[in-house]
Amino acid sequence: MIVKFYGTRGSIPVCAPEFQEFGGNTTCVQLTIQETNNIAIFDAGTGIRDLGKDFLARGHEQDEIFIAFTHFHWDHIQGFPFFAPAFIKNQKINILALGWGKKLKCLEEVFRTQMQKEYFPVQLESMGAKFEFMLLKETRRVFEPAVEDPNPVLVTTNKHNHPGGAYGYRIERDGKVFVFCTDVEHGDSIDEKVVKLATDADLLVHEAQYTSGELKEKKGWGHSSYEQALEVAKRANVKMLAITHHDPDHDDEFLKKREKECKERFKDCVLAREKMEIEF
Ligand SMILES: [Zn+2]
Ligand SMILES: [Zn+2]
Repeated sequence: MIVKFYGTRGSIPVCAPEFQEFGGNTTCVQLTIQETNNIAIFDAGTGIRDLGKDFLARGHEQDEIFIAFTHFHWDHIQGFPFFAPAFIKNQKINILALGWGKKLKCLEEVFRTQMQKEYFPVQLESMGAKFEFMLLKETRRVFEPAVEDPNPVLVTTNKHNHPGGAYGYRIERDGKVFVFCTDVEHGDSIDEKVVKLATDADLLVHEAQYTSGELKEKKGWGHSSYEQALEVAKRANVKMLAITHHDPDHDDEFLKKREKECKERFKDCVLAREKMEIEF
């Protein structure tokens, strides 16, 4: 698998010169299954715009594109109307919300509302792609392999604490495990369900919007500290940790210092940078 970060910023995009190393686009991650060259996308923050452009520029063709959503806060959907492949007539795009069926009535409504004419010039039904809205109650599903691929993909989600709720994703295929866990507020102790979801992952992407000091001031805002991300990684015995969802007030200099501290406590740890790729 290869994970590529197209958006590493939390809350709102930033574009000043002091944010260029880690990037200013909001959450969007691309997962490539190397054997089949198929991609899956996690969240549609502003980073998905570049992802879509790269997808078209390299002439990539894929019968179905999955976009899995952790939740639907602005910073995780804002790029969706700018995802170029969604404007290709009859391109099949599956919008996946695994587990959300327990609390959301209509998934299509989320995107239809986002693009209603008061907010955006193009409406969802005029984009061109054939959308399938997969609002599922279960938190575990096996996706059967394509003809050329013998390996099914097992997707498991876990609901964690965040205003309005959010889900972490665990992707397993052919012995490799990728876990994506963002917008999570652990509270006074680490959420054991998050540790369980991340157990033995080859790569855990976990958010850390705050330092421990900042977190004390931001109780109820829905986020984690660097220390908590490290603790989850250690307890879950993950091979590598990438920290994302950087606060829009944290510039490159600040993040580089935090990264150095994190590496001292967990060797195989990086702070995610836009366009960074991790192969495992
Ligand atoms: Zn967010
Ligand atoms: Zn959120």
